[in-house]
Amino acid sequence: MGLSTKDVLLHMAHVRRSVRPPRQFILEPAACLRCGYRFKDRSRLNPPGRCPRCKSTHIQDPKYEIR
Ligand SMILES: [Zn+2]
Repeated sequence: MGLSTKDVLLHMAHVRRSVRPPRQFILEPAACLRCGYRFKDRSRLNPPGRCPRCKSTHIQDPKYEIR
C-alpha cells in the first residue's frame, strides 16, 4: 500500500459523500485489538489513538465497503 493513512481517510470521506441509494456506504468502526472495544460512536473516520477501556494502543483501523 502506497497510501498514507491521511490519504486513505480523505479517500474514504470522498467515497462516503459520493455514494447514492440504492448503494450503501457501510462503515465498520475502529476496534480495540486487545479487549474488543468498538468505537461505534465516533462520527469522524480517523482511528482513535488508544482504547478508552483498556488503554491499549493496538487499535484496528476502521474499514468501509460499498454495497
Ligand atoms: Zn481495549
